[in-house]
Order: sequence, then C-alpha cells, then structure tokens
Amino acid sequence: MSINFYNTLSRRQEEFQPLEEGVVKMYTCGPTVYNFAHVGNYRAFVFEDLLRRYLEFKGLRIIQVMNITDVDDKIIKAANQKGISIDEFTEPYRQAFMEDLATLGVEPAEYYPLATEHVSDMVALIETLLEKGIAYKTEDGSVYYKVAKFPRYGQLANLNVTEMRRGKRVADDSYEKEEVRDFALWKAWKPEDGDVFWETALGKGRPGWHIECSAMSMKYLGQHFDIHTGGVDNIFPHHENEIAQSEASTGEKFVNYWLHCEFLLMNDEKMSKSLGNIVYLRDLVKKGYHPAAIRLTLLGTHYRLKLNFTFEKLEESGKIITRLRDFKKSLEGEFPVGDLRVAEITRKCVTDFTTALDDDLNISNALAALFTFMHEINSFRLTNPLSQVDAQAINALLDRIDSVLNILKEPAEEFSIEERQLIDARNKARQERNWAEADRLRKLLLDKNIVLEDTPKGTTWKRKL
Ligand code: AMP
Ligand code: ZN
Repeated sequence: MSINFYNTLSRRQEEFQPLEEGVVKMYTCGPTVYNFAHVGNYRAFVFEDLLRRYLEFKGLRIIQVMNITDVDDKIIKAANQKGISIDEFTEPYRQAFMEDLATLGVEPAEYYPLATEHVSDMVALIETLLEKGIAYKTEDGSVYYKVAKFPRYGQLANLNVTEMRRGKRVADDSYEKEEVRDFALWKAWKPEDGDVFWETALGKGRPGWHIECSAMSMKYLGQHFDIHTGGVDNIFPHHENEIAQSEASTGEKFVNYWLHCEFLLMNDEKMSKSLGNIVYLRDLVKKGYHPAAIRLTLLGTHYRLKLNFTFEKLEESGKIITRLRDFKKSLEGEFPVGDLRVAEITRKCVTDFTTALDDDLNISNALAALFTFMHEINSFRLTNPLSQVDAQAINALLDRIDSVLNILKEPAEEFSIEERQLIDARNKARQERNWAEADRLRKLLLDKNIVLEDTPKGTTWKRKL
C-alpha cells in the first residue's frame, strides 16, 4: 500500500511518490551547535528517524543530509568572548550531538555537512541570484534577497505577502535593506565579528543562515528532491526563504514534500533555549532514564501533535519497553509444527502496523497494533504451547517492527558511544551488502571484545566476558 504524508506545502495529505523509483532524497535541518541540543530538538530528530526508518521498512533506499550550522551570530559572539576560534568553540557540541543521536538510536544520515566547509557553494548560489537580479548588494557589502521578485513567496507558510509591511526601514543590523521582508544572504564583516570572515568574490563576510540549507541540500541531493523536514518553527521564515532562494536560482521546483514536527512542550510552553525551560538528554540518562524510554516518549505521540514532556511519561515508556522486551525473551518454541492461528495474528499485526504508518506515520495506531499482537499471542499461549516455527516468526516480526521503532534491542547503553556507532555502521554496511566494510567493522569490534553473530533473524551482538 502507498504511504501518505501531510505536506505543509499543499496543506493536505498526499500519496508519497519519490522522484526516482526506490530512492528517497531527504534533507533535514540540523542543529546550531552553540550549546547542547535539548530533548525538544531531539523530538524533531527522532521524528525524522521514524520517517527514515519507515521508508526503509517499505524497501526504499534513503539518501539523507543533515546540516550542522557551525557559524552564526551566537557562535561568533560566544567564541570571541572566550577568545577561541569558532571551530574550537563548536567542536564539543558537534561531538555531543553525534553522541546524543547514537544514544537515542537515531540511524545516521548519509551526510552531515558543516556550514563552514560549504561557504564557496553558498557564494556561488548568491552570485547566481545577483546575476538574475533577485538579490542586491547594499553599501556595507551585505547581500539581500529581494522578496518582491519572487511572486510565490509565502506559499509554504500560507502568508498573504501583500500584507507584509513593505518599504519600511528598521533599526537593526540589517537597516540597509530595501524592504523589511528582504532577508540577508551575505553579511558583510563588522568589527565585532573579529576573525570570523571569509574573503570571497562577494567581499569579506559570512553567509546568512537560510542560504546554507539551499546550497547544501542542492549540492548533495540535486536541485529538485523528495522530502525536506524540520520543526514547525522552521516553516517561516527559514523554509520559506529556502524555497525562494532555490527556486529563483534554478527555475525548478525545489522540494516535493515538506514535513514538519510539532513542538515538545514543557508545562504547555515550547521547550526552548530562549525560554530556559530545557532538559538535556545526557542529564536524563545520568538520572537513570533509559535512552529507549526517552526515545519512545518522543516517538510515541503523532509528530503533528504537541507533546508535553513529563517524567511520568518517561516512566510509563520504560514500563512498556520492559514488557515488550520480556515478551520477546519469553518466546521459546517447543515443537516443530506451526499453528494457523498464530500465523493469522502475526499477519494481522503486519497489516495493522503498516496501515497505521502509511497514514502519515500514525504511531499511536502502529503501537496499538504491536500491543494487540503481544496480548493476542499471550492469550494464545495460555492454552497452547508455542511451536518453534511460530516463535521464530513472532521474533522475526518483532525485529522487523523494531527496525522502525528501535526500542527492543538489548540495552544499547551497555556499549560506549563509539562502540555503538561501529555497530550501527556495521549493520548499515551489511544492509548495503558492502561485505568488505562489514568484515572490517566486525574485526574492529572484535578487537574491542564485541562479538557479532549474523542470524537469519538479524544480527546479535554481545561483549565477550
Ligand atoms: P535549532 O538548533 O534551534 O535550529 O533546532 C534544531 C531542530 O529542533 C529544528 O528542526 C527545530 O525546529 C527543532 N526544535 C526546536 N525546539 C523544538 C521543540 N521544543 N520541539 C520540537 N522541535 C524543536
Ligand atoms: Zn535549514
């Protein structure tokens, strides 16, 4: 059956059709690494992981790009205050971000481009916009996008552009722009930027934030690709500006499906650094909350609904995970021949799980299918012993479902972050049938006393004692 997603651009649910058969090209707005990301940010990244994993479950190959914003006003200010380079300043946060993704069982993207390493791509894009008369330079050497030149501006955020104030100058650092709604593509160097600048054909300065995502997405995925994601706060102005920049420069449609995740709230307010109501993943883990329970909490509410963060929810998720894991461990077959009733319960679970996620990733119904399955198998077992074939089939189904949910495997935290990354990389190499790389990683893990066993049901891994 086909997958349907709610597309922010059309404001309705649409059947998903990738541009190239069997392949999905997807861009995800990544973190600004001026601090640790909080669990609100991770709600967005876990939603994107669910999306990615479900597309893989459906047999599609994913090429995902997640940018890392490693230069912006806040980063420059903080690095200058500390008297270190922006690279030195962002390095620990970049590292922490990758560690947190691994902790949450997020499957790595194919590319994590750094903004600072793609300035020449951004400059080239800005030059195209200047040549086309869509961008203009101001006296101080900054470059702005002229929104009036792009009639479709406002389509994503559903804005009435004529209502946006025009022609008024504002007393901020962008006072030279012609219209309030114009936005910066290139920011000319100012003394407070210190050593942070690039000498380019546009002059001395640095790129704006929006151009970063247009340049890096098109570089890795092409001018027109399938899916672009982010939190709802990215819709305007960030994603609206990305469309304006990309489509005005290429003359082509930029992205087919725009998917946005609602906020994680704390006491009914958006969890955000500026409000100060944030919770860090590593603090939760230190307090003893299981990463899989945090993952399930972030994952378990439909991505387009607001979700209030509470410790009760984390505890409830922990109990659910224990029940599911105990159920999986209890599956011992006693005799060879299978029972048609088990086959039917299993078949129904696959259908219900898939139907739910096909419907704009309806995770509540997908989880309900899993709980019903566990309940029905347990009821069956009250009066009938399980056969070996049935136990194997149930196990295989749970593994398949867990390729999407990623909550049932043995506690990942038994391994260090580096070890987990190696395990993930090896699983990926194996999925891609890159046997040489899979073998190399197996040996590396063996050196660390981690033994992998590939079975028809999937790969198991344990530490050699
Ligand atoms: P930032 O580092 O602020 O650019 O945010 C990284 C990602 O987290 C973006 O996709 C944001 O939309 C998303 N985000 C930020 N705060 C929240 C929140 N409270 N709930 C869900 N997503 C969020
Ligand atoms: Zn972005």
